[in-house]
Amino acid sequence: MLRWLRCLHRPRLVIWRSGSSYVARMRYLVKLKGDDEACSAALRAGRLFLYHKLRPLLMRAEGGRHRPLDMKTTDVEALLEKLGQQKERVRESVLVGCTETWVPQFCLDVGTLEKCAVERLCGGEFVDLRKAFFLLRGHDVPHMARGRALLHWHQTHGFCSASGEPTVKNQAGSQRVCQGSGHTYYPQMAPVLIVLVSDGSRCLLGRQAAFPRDMYSALAGFCDMGETMEETLRREVAEEVGLEVETFQFASTQHWPYPQSSFMLACHATVNPQRCQVSVDKVELEDARWFTLEEIQEALRRASAPQAPGGGPPVFWLPPSFTIAHQLVQEWVRQQTAGV
Ligand SMILES: [Zn+2]
Repeated sequence: MLRWLRCLHRPRLVIWRSGSSYVARMRYLVKLKGDDEACSAALRAGRLFLYHKLRPLLMRAEGGRHRPLDMKTTDVEALLEKLGQQKERVRESVLVGCTETWVPQFCLDVGTLEKCAVERLCGGEFVDLRKAFFLLRGHDVPHMARGRALLHWHQTHGFCSASGEPTVKNQAGSQRVCQGSGHTYYPQMAPVLIVLVSDGSRCLLGRQAAFPRDMYSALAGFCDMGETMEETLRREVAEEVGLEVETFQFASTQHWPYPQSSFMLACHATVNPQRCQVSVDKVELEDARWFTLEEIQEALRRASAPQAPGGGPPVFWLPPSFTIAHQLVQEWVRQQTAGV
């Protein structure tokens, strides 16, 4: 029987800044999603982030970091015309947000244009998003991930799955409607459970064969149709490492744009230290094993993937700090060292 762990971690207290500006901006955005005319006007006054085959356009910023390059709509129209395309293509853009100063933000994939020509004219570089995560400042990461995910959803939902007829997006890109059946499709995320299992003194990390070399992470799996989060967690841990979860606690969530668009539900869980023998499902995982607090702390001190030591023991590393798996590990270390 699963129990909620009420004492393992303090409940996360989220404090939002009070004031009417957030409410007003959210109501502005929802109006743009429902009103094509208003959204077209917003597009005229907004800023566009370009992608090329889902790679965001970045430019170098101070301090060796990069930042997303946002452009005026009129500048993108001029760019399209210069490269032989119709400027009306800006209407293929999708709404992704609005700045605190009420500037609407859109994303547009210009993958049909020659990549180098766009880069030359814009003074930026299209960078694979996984690489971009390491180059961008933290607050730019979710923004670029959201744009990629929404653009990808539109690129793969051009036809109705019931009638096979083309679907057409609204101006904001918040939905697509089948021209034959009238069925409305909304962008979707697949729920994925990610869990850091502990036996009280160690934590369990695994690696899939597709992971970067020597990287270990928390266990993760898609929620099956009809499952609760608790059922997914219990099933995934049983399937992947052959352990029975005794307690768990929800931690936080994160959107992740891969493999298509995932809604990561992060949890901590414990197993009985008397029954913690790992039995790895080799179809799902290449390896999974227990790590001590000292091993985890040492891995957290490594900023990046370790250099392969000549003949030394294998050195593992953790997912980077912007990932929810890393946050779970950090929380576990804080819990283990609390009061020490
Ligand atoms: Zn249809």
